[in-house]
Amino acid sequence: MLTVNARSTSGTGAPFVATTIERRDLGPHDVLIDIAYAGICHSDIHTARGEWGDTHFPLVPGHEIAGVVSAVGSEVTRFAVGDRAGVGCMVDSCRECGPCLAGEEQYCLTGNIGTYDAIGRDGRPTDGGYSEKIVVDEAYTLRIPEGLDLDVAAPLLCAGITLYSPLRHWGAGPGKDVAIVGLGGLGHMGVRIAKAMGAEVTVLSQSLKKQEDGLRLGADHYHATGDPDTFQALAGRFDLIVSTISASVDMGAYLGLLKLDGALVNVGLPEEPLSVPAFPLLEGRRSLAGSMIGGIRETQEMLDFCAEHGLGAEIEVISADQIDEAYDRVVASDVRYRFVIDIATMAG
Ligand code: NAP
Ligand code: ZN
Ligand code: ZN
Repeated sequence: MLTVNARSTSGTGAPFVATTIERRDLGPHDVLIDIAYAGICHSDIHTARGEWGDTHFPLVPGHEIAGVVSAVGSEVTRFAVGDRAGVGCMVDSCRECGPCLAGEEQYCLTGNIGTYDAIGRDGRPTDGGYSEKIVVDEAYTLRIPEGLDLDVAAPLLCAGITLYSPLRHWGAGPGKDVAIVGLGGLGHMGVRIAKAMGAEVTVLSQSLKKQEDGLRLGADHYHATGDPDTFQALAGRFDLIVSTISASVDMGAYLGLLKLDGALVNVGLPEEPLSVPAFPLLEGRRSLAGSMIGGIRETQEMLDFCAEHGLGAEIEVISADQIDEAYDRVVASDVRYRFVIDIATMAG
């Protein structure tokens, strides 16, 4: 066992404190990663604040992990010491079911094993990236291409893939009108990726406060959903809308913005159920769908795509002592556009 410094919270709403956790000894297929940066995803906050109901404490969140391999197990073939590596939302799955065999491990029929707040194959609880090191099977470890700095790459491991996967699946590209709802961690990567795929991109944000940023990130248009005229002005405009809203809202208003056969894909995970009126769904033969992160193969494809197009996250680097403050700012929609913890500050 390896003892490493980490930050944990002991219960719903309890502040983060310095702690130590144990990482398992390297198995033959494991890599040991010295973590350099860990992004703060809104899912970390939902979990830490008990909003999904079943959190196990003490909790060490973090599933946007970027670092450098510092040791490899005896049978590891894809990684060597010194390689730049990433870990996202899952560290294992059954590897035998249909989705696993299809490379869609996130939809594993027995449930993928989360990077934190889950039970690993070894029967021990999993701990996330707010820590100095992690041990992960190489099959669930990503390669971070040269050309992407580790700090701006970390958020791609969740925010990046969560937008890349539905944008690819629903065919974002030239000639497609795509709207991204919510300009936070996920949303800002959605804008960058959809634009790089060649789509015409619109940001739908609660206010015009982030308009300049949205256009700089690559959006062609930007509208405030707080303005009641917006929904009328944009009725029937989009082929695809991806909603990243972290709160429960009325999906009906957004459905009305779709063209015939358009799709509204929700990736937000609010505590409360979404409300979906039937009329705007049926009118225009529209689809309402969901999407969860992406498989390992697709996550690697996303990292390579982002490196090729020079797309990192727009980040604010914080120290390990600033996690509570960062959480409050994310909840207040005051993140520009992802907080990333500098793991070098973890020991202090
Ligand atoms: P985030 O940085 O907080 O962004 C969410 C954005 O939603 C906010 O910046 C805000 O954008 C908008 N928003 C917040 N409250 C709203 C409200 N009441 N009405 C309308 N818009 C509102 O969070 P994130 O890290 O991007 O995560 C977003 C959601 O996706 C979370 O629920 C998270 O758990 C979930 N998630 C899902 C997956 C998946 O696999 N599907 C993966 C990661 C995260 P504006 O200020 O621009 O309006
Ligand atoms: Zn996440
Ligand atoms: Zn499976």
